[in-house]
Amino acid sequence: MTDRQHAVSSSGRHPERGLDQHAGFDAIVVGAGFAGLYMVYRLRELGLRVRGYEAGDDVGGTWYWNRYPGARCDAESLAYSYSFSPALEQEWQWSERYATQPEILRYIEHVAERFDLRRDFRFSRRVDSARYDAESNLWSITTEAGDRSHARFCIMATGCLSVPLLPDIPGLDDFRGERYQASLWPHHPIDFTGKRVGVIGTGSSAIQAVPVIARQAARLTVFQRTPNFSIPACNEPLDPAFVAEFKRHYREHRELARVGKISGFGGLEAVPREQAPAADSGVLLSDRELETILEQYWNTGGARFIGAIGDTLLNERTNTLVAEFVRERIRRTVHDAETAEALSPTSHPIGTKRICVDTGYYETYNRDNVTLVDVRRHPIARITANGVETEHDQYPLDVLVLATGFDAMTGALLAIDIRGEHGSTLADKWANGPRTYLGLGVSGFPNLFTITGPGSPSVLSNMLISIEQHVDWIADCLGFMQRQGYQRIDADAEAEAGWVAHVNEIANATLFPRAGSWYLGANVPGKPRVFMPYAAGVGPYREVCERVSANGYEGFRFA
Ligand SMILES: Cc1cc2nc3c(=O)[nH]c(=O)nc-3n(C[C@H](O)[C@H](O)[C@H](O)COP(=O)(O)OP(=O)(O)OC[C@H]3O[C@@H](n4cnc5c(N)ncnc54)[C@H](O)[C@@H]3O)c2cc1C
Repeated sequence: MTDRQHAVSSSGRHPERGLDQHAGFDAIVVGAGFAGLYMVYRLRELGLRVRGYEAGDDVGGTWYWNRYPGARCDAESLAYSYSFSPALEQEWQWSERYATQPEILRYIEHVAERFDLRRDFRFSRRVDSARYDAESNLWSITTEAGDRSHARFCIMATGCLSVPLLPDIPGLDDFRGERYQASLWPHHPIDFTGKRVGVIGTGSSAIQAVPVIARQAARLTVFQRTPNFSIPACNEPLDPAFVAEFKRHYREHRELARVGKISGFGGLEAVPREQAPAADSGVLLSDRELETILEQYWNTGGARFIGAIGDTLLNERTNTLVAEFVRERIRRTVHDAETAEALSPTSHPIGTKRICVDTGYYETYNRDNVTLVDVRRHPIARITANGVETEHDQYPLDVLVLATGFDAMTGALLAIDIRGEHGSTLADKWANGPRTYLGLGVSGFPNLFTITGPGSPSVLSNMLISIEQHVDWIADCLGFMQRQGYQRIDADAEAEAGWVAHVNEIANATLFPRAGSWYLGANVPGKPRVFMPYAAGVGPYREVCERVSANGYEGFRFA
């Protein structure tokens, strides 16, 4: 035992759990969010011995870490939930159209308890290395706490948005007030009453947090680099009669969502409130027809707005019309013309950065205690002990909130020293951008699977749909291997190259590559600019995966 390991076990930090020392399992799962929990459930069904490792001290993933005020999902609760257990979906009661973070976390905890999933996990364990040994055909996993274990299969359920980014601003650590990061929020409530609060960032998390903080704080200053498009959530308590009726048809709703028939936007909606999309193309519509459709979608709320017109993400002209509709709404809502202008996105086509969904975001800028600082025009020079300094002004603050996003999709995978065959590292392999086969396997890294990996729809969908599909696919594949007596699976290099080319081809047919988005890695200095998710939608993607498995897992090699 090393000193470090000894220190951990003898300090009693995890006395009840102990360290895994040279422990052997059939499969190791990294991460205890929605993906890791369901993966463990399916692996157990296959009779496999499983070990899960999770950096946090409990289950929940995104919903464990992101406890900032106003945090909630922007997929409808009835759709943003597991479908694998009909009993679970019938018994769980969601209270609102879009569930809050505490409610989603309660749900995940309930699932963990109901299916006794915690017992296979070790918490407060960050996996720092995963190495494949060709001779034994085993993966060796180590954690920062000192665990060492090995398994035939290593399954990464590490999340697409689980590595928070700090802004690169001089003096960040000099600030003497309270500092919080949206994605690492404390587990106790923060009281902003009477305080001068600054929020850096205007992505999804800030857009949810700003209206809530503004209601408490004495003064709120929002530092914005890039404005994002946001659509009103029109959140509301769920009507019990609607829910009862919905639950009677849960299976049908789920099936439609799986094949991408609900909402043009990856199944974020529970039920289509109108036929979606309402029109195939914006260019064939008169101004009045377009306005009527968009108005209707705007008034019913949610990210489905982006799917109202079928070619919004494909056709520049349609996109401009839709974007202008939203900019006009911003101008109508925000009283101060200069603030409205600053809040109106013009640097990217609408929908090419993750569309935000809000409750009263733009209205918040009409409050006397709220100021927007456009840091494109007035860059932040430094953070001082007392607040933020731009080139023109000083903003004394008691509290600084950072909502500056994530190293998306590849961040959590590359934070682990993953080595495949011949000791080759994933970091080297992905030096010019991620390369996977179907977002599930990586050639040269046998018996390694990635749930919602780059090259799959993942963040362009309701993630629960994508997670369940991947977990089911992996579990089915392992079942196939058991039946065939195979011990090793690896993606074929040629199949992988073909898939990477196809993912790029699909992305290039859309407007997505036009935005400097986190989908492209543009928010991380030095990260290769490659469009990472698969943009053809969950329906076509599922068909590809089903075809691959029906054809004996074509594109994979077994031994
Ligand atoms: C604020 C926010 C709001 C979101 N809202 C929506 C939404 O409305 N709809 C939607 O579809 N998606 C949404 N998402 C995306 C969300 O991440 C997914 O929906 C889903 O929760 C992902 O589940 P997961 O299990 O794949 O990953 P995560 O929930 O991210 O879980 C991954 C887990 O792996 C752990 N981990 C990572 N690396 C290691 C390591 N090396 N060792 C040990 N543990 C590790 C992490 O600690 C984490 O707990 C949102 C994301 C954020 C951040």
